[in-house]
Amino acid sequence: MAEQLTPMQIAQSQLKAAADKLDLEESVLEMLMEPERVVCVRIPVKMDDGTTKIFNGYRSQHSTAIGPAKGGVRFHPGVNLDEVKALSFWMTFKCGVLGLPYGGGKGGVQVDPTKLSRSELERLSRGYVRALADVFGADLDVPAPDVNTNGQIMAWMLDEYAVINRKTDFAMLTGKPIVLGGSKGRVEATGRGAVVTLLEALKKLDMDIKGRTVAVQGFGNVGSAAADILADLGAKIVAISDISGGIYNENGIDIKALLEHRDKTGFVKDFSGAEPMPGEKIFELPVDVIVPAALENVLTEENAHKVQAKIVLEIANGPTTPKADEIMREKGVLVLPDILSNAGGVTVSYFEWVQNRYGYFWSEEEVNARLTQKMKESFANVWNMAKESSVDLRTAAYMVSVKRIGEAIKLRGIV
Ligand code: NAD
Repeated sequence: MAEQLTPMQIAQSQLKAAADKLDLEESVLEMLMEPERVVCVRIPVKMDDGTTKIFNGYRSQHSTAIGPAKGGVRFHPGVNLDEVKALSFWMTFKCGVLGLPYGGGKGGVQVDPTKLSRSELERLSRGYVRALADVFGADLDVPAPDVNTNGQIMAWMLDEYAVINRKTDFAMLTGKPIVLGGSKGRVEATGRGAVVTLLEALKKLDMDIKGRTVAVQGFGNVGSAAADILADLGAKIVAISDISGGIYNENGIDIKALLEHRDKTGFVKDFSGAEPMPGEKIFELPVDVIVPAALENVLTEENAHKVQAKIVLEIANGPTTPKADEIMREKGVLVLPDILSNAGGVTVSYFEWVQNRYGYFWSEEEVNARLTQKMKESFANVWNMAKESSVDLRTAAYMVSVKRIGEAIKLRGIV
C-alpha cells in the first residue's frame, strides 16, 4: 500500500516520523506538512517552425522560516505539482540539516528538453523566469540547476531577470557559469559532498574505501561526479546505468574514459570498456555500495529485498519509498539519506550566493575545504542524533533539521 504514495506523501511520512520522536508541537507540524506557497504558470514558447507551444511551469516555496526559498529547476516530462512540492519540502529539511540560512524551494517545467532546439530551450528558460519574476529574488527565492538544467540555462535565466529588473543581480540564482559569478567547485559539489558522507559512514563501520565495489544509477551531473571522485579514491565502480540502460565490468569501469564516451554520445550504452546489462538490475548486484543518482521512487517494495549492498548512498532526491526503507532497515542495510548526502550542491550554492553578495571569490581549494567541513559536521550531528534517539539516519536527519526550523517558526511567532 505504501507503494501507492506520491513523492509528497512520502516526504510527509518522513517528517511525521521525526515529529513523533521529537514530540513536535501540532501547529508547527501542520505548518511544515504543506508548502507556504505554490505558483503554477503557463509558458508560451515560439517554436522554430513558427508554431507556439504552451508548457506547464511550477515553483513551490515550502518554507521561508529560516531564509529565502532555495532549490533547483527541473526540466522533465514527468514534472508535476506534487513532485515539485515534494522536492521543495526536501530542500527545506536539507538546508536545515546543513544549517544553511535558507528555506526550501523547487521548480520545474513539464517538458522533454531533448525534443527542443537550443533556441527553443533558451526561449523556454527565459519564459519560465518571465512568468515567475515576482517570485524570485536573492532574498526571496533563489533557483539553481536540477535534472536537465545546467549553467547555460542559469545564464539565460539570470539575463532574463536582469532585463526585467534593469540590473544584474548575480545572487538571484546559483549554479551559474564561473564567468557569470558562479563558484568554483559547484559543478561537482553534490557528488563531492556525497562522497564525504560515504567516507564518514565507512569510518564508523571501520571500512576502507579502497577496493569497495560500487553500482551507480544515473550518470548525469551528480552521478558522474560521484563516480569519478570515488574511482580516484580507489573504489571500484563495477556498474553504471542511465536512461539508455546499464553497463558492467567486474574489474571496475574506467570512469574518465566513460565520461569522454558520454560527452560524445550522450549515454553510457555502447561503451567499449564494459558489458551491457539490464539497467533495472543495478540495485540487485553483489556490491558494497549502491548509489541512486537519477530520479525518485527507484528503491521500492519490489526491489528493496533484492538489495545485497551494505550501504545505500542516496544522491537522487527521494529515491527510497518508506516501505523500501523498512525492508532495508530490517536487512541491516545502512541508508545514507538524501537530505544529508546530496546536500553538497546546495551548500556550495550557498557559498556562491555569499561570494556574489560580497563580490569576492574563493579558490577551489577553499570551497572544497569548507564543503568537506560542513558535510563532516552535519554527518556527525545526524549520526549522534541517530545513536541518542535509537532511530535510523533518515529520521535522525529530519530530527536535527526539524528542531532548528521548528525553533525558528516558534521564535518568529508564525504559529
Ligand atoms: P542529470 O539530468 O544531470 O542526470 C540524470 C541522470 O539520470 C542521467 O544520466 C539520466 O540518463 C539518468 N536517468 C534518468 N532517468 C533514468 C532512469 N529511468 N533510469 C536510469 N537512469 C535514469 O541530473 P542530476 O543533476 O545529476 O540529478 C540527478 C538526481 O540528483 C536528481 O534526483 C536530482 O534532484 C538530484 N540532485 C541533484 C543536485 C545537483 O546539484 N544537480 C543536487 C542534489 C540532488
